[in-house]
Amino acid sequence: MNIKSLLSEIKNRRTTTIRRIVQIIAFIVINYILIEQLFVLNLISLDAFLKVLPVLNAPKNPISNGTGILEMIFYSIIEGIFPLFLIALLVLVLLFTNRFFCGWICPIGTIQDVCAAVPTNKKRLKISTHNSLLKIKYIFVVLIIILIIPLGITATTNYDFYLDYRANLGDFGKNPMGYFSLSEYIFVFFPNMIKDMIVTGSLQPLFSSFLTFIIFFFYIALIILSVWYPRVYCRYFCPFAAVSSVISEYSFLKLSRNPVRCVGRTECGICEKVCPKQIRILDEPFEFFTGNGECNFCLKCKEKCPYNAIDMKFG
Ligand code: SF4
Ligand code: SF4
Repeated sequence: MNIKSLLSEIKNRRTTTIRRIVQIIAFIVINYILIEQLFVLNLISLDAFLKVLPVLNAPKNPISNGTGILEMIFYSIIEGIFPLFLIALLVLVLLFTNRFFCGWICPIGTIQDVCAAVPTNKKRLKISTHNSLLKIKYIFVVLIIILIIPLGITATTNYDFYLDYRANLGDFGKNPMGYFSLSEYIFVFFPNMIKDMIVTGSLQPLFSSFLTFIIFFFYIALIILSVWYPRVYCRYFCPFAAVSSVISEYSFLKLSRNPVRCVGRTECGICEKVCPKQIRILDEPFEFFTGNGECNFCLKCKEKCPYNAIDMKFG
């Protein structure tokens, strides 16, 4: 590839290039242990500050009970505290920025994008299969809410029941998102498990329970699958995606399709082919499309549209 074609390729992929840069910076900032390692700094004194910014609630933090805002919302509920501030923050961010966080910031999204960058033929699921699988993440969230609501209510009204019920929930009662969140797994559980393996000099921590073992292979399989099925975890399993898709449907920030410029699926259809979330963009109204809130605002469709038919709009 000569310099001219390289420059033209960079120009054509300007959005992706900027997104990659933002993703790398976000990955390092969110996992500030990396900054400590790279620059030999001690950022532990920032713990108090980082705890009030949920997105920066880093894995390094020994007193962290979650790696993201939803993790912290659920954790507050089981502690009997209604997380009004966090819920309001989450709703406002989604209303004003749609799922920009998912496409540009989330470190789990970045990991899957790295996998998807492996040059392979990307696969698409049958529409019916895809639509059925989309429901899994909603089931996870409903299940979590049903299980933790009694804790939220009884923490202040019936403490004996609360203690009993929480003890019966085991690990789930300590950290409700623990098993359902890949970020919780990768950034909290997994490093601790590796540390235990090093300390004990054995693989025993991996086999400490049947569930631990199953979840390990399940998440490994998901990460490998994202080489062929981009953002497979976001699409079907991420609880944050479930919650945010419901709210982002009403976001002020949207993508629209110009009816004059767009030539449609038969003539083109490139936007749908490049969409990592397998969204049927062309089945949606011209005024705006969100894929039922599944769009993570990566802007790949906009970047690749040869007719410049996709626009961002606010309001
Ligand atoms: S890539 Fe652009 S022109 Fe082609 S179908 Fe999609 S929106 Fe229409
Ligand atoms: S619809 Fe466009 S912006 Fe949304 S996820 Fe698909 S490619 Fe990305």
